[in-house]
Amino acid sequence: MIEKKSILFVLSILMIISSCKSTKKEEQVRIIQDIQIPTPKIMKFGINFADYDVHEKKIKKGQSLSTLLDSYQIPLTKKETLDSISNYIKPRDLKIRNDYYILTQKGNPKALEYFIYKKDLVEYIIVDLKEGVKIRSYKKPIVIREEMIGGNITGSLSKTLSKNGLGRDVVGELSNIYKWSINFFKLKREDEFAMIYDERFVEDSVSIGMDYLKAVKFKHKGKDFYAFARKDDKGNVEYFNEKGNQLKAMFLKAPLKFFRISSKYNLKRFHPVQKRVKPHLGTDYAAPHGTPILATANGVITRKGYGRGNGNFIKIKHNGTYSTQYLHMSRFRKGLKVGSYVNQGDVIGYVGSTGLATGPHVCYRFWKNNKQVDPLKQNLPNRDPLTKKQKEVFLKEIKPLKVKLDGEIEKVEGKKES
Ligand SMILES: [Zn+2]
Repeated sequence: MIEKKSILFVLSILMIISSCKSTKKEEQVRIIQDIQIPTPKIMKFGINFADYDVHEKKIKKGQSLSTLLDSYQIPLTKKETLDSISNYIKPRDLKIRNDYYILTQKGNPKALEYFIYKKDLVEYIIVDLKEGVKIRSYKKPIVIREEMIGGNITGSLSKTLSKNGLGRDVVGELSNIYKWSINFFKLKREDEFAMIYDERFVEDSVSIGMDYLKAVKFKHKGKDFYAFARKDDKGNVEYFNEKGNQLKAMFLKAPLKFFRISSKYNLKRFHPVQKRVKPHLGTDYAAPHGTPILATANGVITRKGYGRGNGNFIKIKHNGTYSTQYLHMSRFRKGLKVGSYVNQGDVIGYVGSTGLATGPHVCYRFWKNNKQVDPLKQNLPNRDPLTKKQKEVFLKEIKPLKVKLDGEIEKVEGKKES
């Protein structure tokens, strides 16, 4: 077809050249009208659309594949055709306003040669009806690009993110990542955030959503909360802070670096001081007087004070479910008060024997849904930390991301001041 046209085109040009010799103007005009320019190929889904009459349509309400085929001649029976198509297009895939193409034989609007259905932004189903039924799926190539956004919290986190074109899935992802460190319901208007993420695109500019969050920084009440993604050998993404500590590794095994358990959680324990059976709702970790006591997880101090039994104690709320409490401290770390944030591993006080205690130890109380439970019996996320080598590699990897996040937050702060 194309070749024939090209020959005709060349011939026509020759005719024009020869006709130039002619002095009669109207003859020239007539010949020019005869020129046939070769139809350029319009390749889509590996089909030259120029070879067909193309009708671009949208699925209408109440329309089914069956009613759609009714208007055309097809090589096989409708049932055979529909059966084959049903392997690729299920009734639930047929959505109102989804695009489809009907390609009919040139000049024969009844002869359906291709039915092409746009299943979603990525996938098309191509039904070839020239002879029998041949069906294939065509997927647009997906390009992944790194994107960054930053801003102030204005209203809720989801509102802020949707203003930036991000969906609810991102909010879910964020609250999952920061489950142990930030209460997203308590975000303040002055809080700032910056995020680096991979976004998936088709046709270079049409976003089909986030691939995964690579790095995040929240500045909440003036404190920085970083999260950096790390893919393990199996391709699972886990998040770590800027020091290479896992965000989800919820609790340290103990509130002391070196310890000896002197008394476990025991509901029928004989109390050594009171000389009677009294449930022991904590775990006692014996250590020399003055040994630093560590917060076992990130959280906010909800209580700090002195009790006759507890001595000097601190209680930390980690999230909606868990709190921990540390008793008999000789003293508190300076500067801590109710409302202070503490990170996992931060020193909060020092071992002592204030309150009802026979010797220096920390009585570690573990609260789950406002009830004291045995932390050693909880099925808590407790993963192996990164090895020294892994941490080294990871910290090197996140360096440029951290610089970007910090820069973005600075930009946001600059905007706020002006
Ligand atoms: Zn105790």
